[in-house]
Amino acid sequence: METLFKRGLTLLIGMLRNLENHPDFRVDTSTIKRITGLADSVRLAATTEGTDLSQASEIDEPFPRDALSGIPAQVPTEGSSGDATQLFDELRTKVLACTKCPNLVTFRHSVVFGVGNQRAELMFVGEAPGADEDREGEPFVGRAGELLTKIIQTMGFQRSEVYIANVLKCRPDLPPGTPGNRQPTPAEMATCLPYLREQIELIRPKVMVALGGTAMRGLFGKEEPMKQMRGRWHLFGSIPVMATFHPSYLLRNQALFLKRQVWEDMLLVLERLDRSISEKQRNYFLPR
Ligand code: URA
Repeated sequence: METLFKRGLTLLIGMLRNLENHPDFRVDTSTIKRITGLADSVRLAATTEGTDLSQASEIDEPFPRDALSGIPAQVPTEGSSGDATQLFDELRTKVLACTKCPNLVTFRHSVVFGVGNQRAELMFVGEAPGADEDREGEPFVGRAGELLTKIIQTMGFQRSEVYIANVLKCRPDLPPGTPGNRQPTPAEMATCLPYLREQIELIRPKVMVALGGTAMRGLFGKEEPMKQMRGRWHLFGSIPVMATFHPSYLLRNQALFLKRQVWEDMLLVLERLDRSISEKQRNYFLPR
């Protein structure tokens, strides 16, 4: 009975969050917060009662890296966008109710699923939500997010035309009172990667951009320095992925040549997408 109650609660949160994201309906966020708080208390109680939640991170096998090829049969083809939308909604519901990493579950305010066009030809993958994203439930809304939005717009897209997600969907936890953020651990990324993979399989972007070394580690397990990986194509299954510096790195290092390097990576992305590039766009961040 109690388990049924917990499941129901988790499902309800997922449904409310879905509704919240629906353009025609906005749920009062304080209601969601109250229900989420209630769910957290139930989870906390469950953990202390010794239920299997403490083993949660081991429930799913981490995604095997050598299986990163091909698109599974269930992926909808053209003409079945209704199915794709439904599968996407189901995935969102599942991810929003995820409790695989108990340390992150107790720390988080939201699960930051992703945002944008579910049929985007271009998808950006970052590291993990920070405090702003955790509060708002949307990736890249802080300072780094503002810069990413500028990059996207300078490429000629609206933010809503592309898709933006992170390798890790929850903010990495920190001891109380500790400022800043920490990088996700390999175990956290391995636990969360299947969700990102499902997102990618449903969106089927023509091109992806991996923002920073952690995104590259999460997607590919690659440990090379970003200086070597950026500006090159890497394959995630059959999808070409451009590696570039994380916007936070550009905020910390204001050198013009770094901005130009990121911009050159984005020009390669635009070429790969067969987008026309203006003279003005070609020349951004060149020294005068
Ligand atoms: N940095 C990331 O990698 N992702 C976000 O969502 C925000 C900042």
